[in-house]
Amino acid sequence: MTTFHQITLICPHCKNRLSDFELMSYTVYNSTRYPDGKVDMNPWQNSDKSIALCPVCNKVFWRKEAIAESEGIPDETLPSAGDLFDLPFAMQNDSKEQLINFYHNLLQTGFANTIDKKIYLRLRIWWKINDYKRYQKPLFKELLKAKTIKRAKIIWSNRKESNRQFANFKPLFEENLKKLVSIYQPESKDDYEYIAEMYRQMGNY
Ligand SMILES: [Zn+2]
Repeated sequence: MTTFHQITLICPHCKNRLSDFELMSYTVYNSTRYPDGKVDMNPWQNSDKSIALCPVCNKVFWRKEAIAESEGIPDETLPSAGDLFDLPFAMQNDSKEQLINFYHNLLQTGFANTIDKKIYLRLRIWWKINDYKRYQKPLFKELLKAKTIKRAKIIWSNRKESNRQFANFKPLFEENLKKLVSIYQPESKDDYEYIAEMYRQMGNY
């Protein structure tokens, strides 16, 4: 069962009050954890909830820091806080590329003022770039499954496009992982294995 709790956020930029929901409980039927740490859940859950978008001034902020003190019954008439799926480019064809650049831009403009926030953004850049390869099945299998030549052409051109994007982001991918390794604080054996995976993906086996 999924239950929500209504909360109020205060936009740190324009100080407007916004309504939002906090997830109280959630049933996960199954989840897949990839070597880069990304976890896909079923049913799907937004893993980028830490950053909220103000619908009034259109600026983003760290959601947790904007939660207002409880003040009785929340005002349901307030405008709703958005998330990264409400960004202007979210519905565009190149939304994936724009989101990676968006995260990178947040890092460059000092949006992340703590190590944890920097790690949060760097992990998302890593995962988003890996997404171009993550869901790829062996190409020959995909092509054999295609029932029509039209379908096969789409599979072929989609594959070429993902590989092209992955190659385009290669310099950012490497720079990002290098910086992530330098700030990541390992505490457990699993963390050291995780760092080993970062090195492996940088090409330093
Ligand atoms: Zn605002």
